Amino acid sequence: MSIKEHLKNIKTELPDGVTLVAVSKTKPNEAILEAYEAGQQVFGENKVQEMTQKWETLPKDIEWHMIGHLQRNKVKYMAEFVSLIHGVDSLRLLKEIDKQAQKHDRVIPCLLQMHIAEEDTKFGLDEAELKELIQSEEFKAMENIKIMGLMGMATFTSNQNQVRKEFSNLKSIFEKLKQELPNISVLSMGMSGDYSVAIEEGSTMVRIGSSIFGVRNYS
Ligand SMILES: *Cc1c(COP(=O)(O)O)cnc(C)c1O
Repeated sequence: MSIKEHLKNIKTELPDGVTLVAVSKTKPNEAILEAYEAGQQVFGENKVQEMTQKWETLPKDIEWHMIGHLQRNKVKYMAEFVSLIHGVDSLRLLKEIDKQAQKHDRVIPCLLQMHIAEEDTKFGLDEAELKELIQSEEFKAMENIKIMGLMGMATFTSNQNQVRKEFSNLKSIFEKLKQELPNISVLSMGMSGDYSVAIEEGSTMVRIGSSIFGVRNYS
């Protein structure tokens, strides 16, 4: 099947209100253009340099989402154009995003990444850290970032019950957070292997790569 057909099949499975981020990391511009020409406008990348190169050469109405773990010293390269940063996991990083956004006279939409998986290798905040962050005076003073919601990754396992429990936990953290930040609306959870479960548990944004573009070759 072609990229276009994969996209069409996935789109028919997504309920209204669930945004598809086509994860194009490691994939060439031609593949992205094929998806773009089929109507896809939102793409996700996990490396700032790669995303910036693609932004420079591809149509300017593409929305670029940074979905990977982000180093503070890289924020400046994408502050001008990034549409949503999914992986914000510290106040220090958020402060840097705020500072760089200010330089470009804009507000950068962000998601706070929660650690919901069993693996320690995955990044993200725990609930205590989330609370501390959003209650800090520094957070309240920032004017050039906007928290749109939460992002999380489930454990890489074939145990669907565990994946479901982790997504359900993230959804309940999201609902609690709404009491403090009533304007949040985005819950980014679900990838190629687990997006159906994520949607059942309340996802509003899925990040799908290999099911659209095929397996990635990192060499
Ligand atoms: C690569 C990646 C995805 C997409 O993974 P697939 O399994 O190819 O769909 C989603 N989210 C994040 C954070 C990623 O790094």
